[in-house]
Amino acid sequence: MDKTNPVVMLNANTWHVVESGRASSVALCGQPLRERRAHSRLRTVGREHVCPACLRAIEEETADYTDFTDLPDATL
Ligand SMILES: [Zn+2]
Repeated sequence: MDKTNPVVMLNANTWHVVESGRASSVALCGQPLRERRAHSRLRTVGREHVCPACLRAIEEETADYTDFTDLPDATL
C-alpha cells in the first residue's frame, strides 16, 4: 500500500482508506464496505473528507516514520 497517498473508497457518504484498492471489502478502520460508490486517492479527496479512524490506522502503521513525513526525500 502507498501509505503517503493510499486508495480511498467512498462507502455510503464517507471516504475510507482501503489496503488493496477496489478489491477491498473492509476499510482500514474495520468498517465493512457495503455501499461502495467510488474510489480515489487520499490526496485527491483531502484528509478532511476521510474517516478519522482510517487516518489514525495509517498513522499507527507508519509510526516509525512520522517524524520524517514532512521532510523532502533529499534530507533522509
Ligand atoms: Zn474508516
